[in-house]
Amino acid sequence: MTATVSSNLHPDVVKFLSSGTLKGVVGGKDVTSSTGQTLKTLNPGSGEVLAEFSALSESDVDNAVRVAGETFTKSPWAKLPPNERGVWLHRLADAVEKHKPIIGQIEALDAGKILPQALGDVQNFVDTLRYFTNMSLHVQHRTALAVSGHDAWTVRHPWGPCGFIFPWNFPFLLIGWGISPALAAGNTVVIKPAEDTPLSAIYLARLAREIGFPDGVINVVPGTGETAGAALSRNPGLRRMSFTGSPEVGRMVGEACGRNLTPVKLELGGKGAAVVFDDVDVTKTAEKLVQAITFHTGQVCCDATRWLVHKSIYNDFIDECKDRMTKVRIGYQLDEQSQMGPVVNARQRERVLSYLKKGQEQGAKLLTDGGAAEVPGRSGFYVKPSLLAGSLDNVAAREEIFGPVAYIAPFSSEQEAIEMANQTDYGLANSVWSSDLTRAYRVAESLVAGNSWINAHNIFAHGIPYGGVNKSGMGGGVLSIETLFDYWRSMSVVRPL
Ligand code: NAD
Repeated sequence: MTATVSSNLHPDVVKFLSSGTLKGVVGGKDVTSSTGQTLKTLNPGSGEVLAEFSALSESDVDNAVRVAGETFTKSPWAKLPPNERGVWLHRLADAVEKHKPIIGQIEALDAGKILPQALGDVQNFVDTLRYFTNMSLHVQHRTALAVSGHDAWTVRHPWGPCGFIFPWNFPFLLIGWGISPALAAGNTVVIKPAEDTPLSAIYLARLAREIGFPDGVINVVPGTGETAGAALSRNPGLRRMSFTGSPEVGRMVGEACGRNLTPVKLELGGKGAAVVFDDVDVTKTAEKLVQAITFHTGQVCCDATRWLVHKSIYNDFIDECKDRMTKVRIGYQLDEQSQMGPVVNARQRERVLSYLKKGQEQGAKLLTDGGAAEVPGRSGFYVKPSLLAGSLDNVAAREEIFGPVAYIAPFSSEQEAIEMANQTDYGLANSVWSSDLTRAYRVAESLVAGNSWINAHNIFAHGIPYGGVNKSGMGGGVLSIETLFDYWRSMSVVRPL
């Protein structure tokens, strides 16, 4: 750990980061890589090394799946009555909440999130775990079937060991979204965090061990995607797999799972639209969309990255957005004044800058002063928020950039707006902005995606299903009662009378 990150840190964060090479946790025990490979994770705000960790090998991952499988079949976990399992899960939620200041700082340092957002992610983990735990107590586990001549019912059982592969943009929050329903249903889990952000997953596994949470239920296998991720996705011992990340890798994970007939849930990228009609409050709508595109430096899969604005307010809307974008305070993620932190690594900064360049080469106009940003005293990976304008055929309007870059285009009619919004292979989330709610509901239902939001962007209340269609994902989505049901296999039991 470097001196620049040690100031103002919680003593337990300093202790965690100074505790040598961080290891995976399997069956409650620390595990190092059988090949001895280690990786370094950087602080995106300074570019400096934050910690070193063991990068587990294929055989280490296979061993983790074996341990998760044995824990499922041999330990009491899967057979516990839901209320007893619920006690453990609430204990874990309480422990995470108690350690929120520590996990929040670890997450902020590792992912480059500004601290209030990192703390919000930790609270979201806690809320999600409590939500699914409580739901698991109240759903019917056995359902009688009214079929004449038969005594018949269905019963729900957990599947077994479930695999999870996560990206780097919301490392801890997504672990909560992923594993909470699986655990509440009685499964065991093996988590592969992204190589850029493994720290909060490792901290979680250690915390679970510290509070006496049953060993082998939560296993964490840090490592590269090519080795640890690929090994997890092709392991035939898994009974379910969940992948969150890019469509390119999602396809590989889906193929590997397909070969084993392992059910797989894919939560992939997006290229969402915001359809802005001429009856909105231009100032307020511009403010909300700029907030959305700069939230976590635009590294948000469901962001509104294509702003489709009615031609009669188009120029006013651009002026409002440009003004707000230039005023965003870019800074180190732990500085209180910062409104937008860095992107996750140098590669991601290059990606953002390259789309600005390619977009302009294909005829788009850069309306703001885009490019790399300087933060005095910090050599991290900072970029400025940018607004491009042009045709929707442009590469920057078609491909996911994953940075604070919005692409704006005018429309003339409702039908044209719908066609423009649907001009994409992705299908994650869009929003409609209008004070005419009849029109807003009609347009919201016409957009081809898993989620349509009205007069808001990024809504994640527990109980509202969230997921993608087409290139944005398949397999059920997250955050609703259906997600919990995904983690039970249902069977019928019948006796002829
Ligand atoms: P990525 O696909 O590069 O990596 C995601 C994970 O897959 C990482 O843990 C990585 O190590 C692993 N991986 C890489 N190669 C692998 C392989 N061959 N086999 C198995 N695993 C492998 O994605 P990223 O760059 O970390 O994240 C950004 C992407 O995630 C964006 O496309 C974003 O839209 C998407 N995302 C989607 C959601 C959602 O809910 N739909 C949420 C967050 C992020």
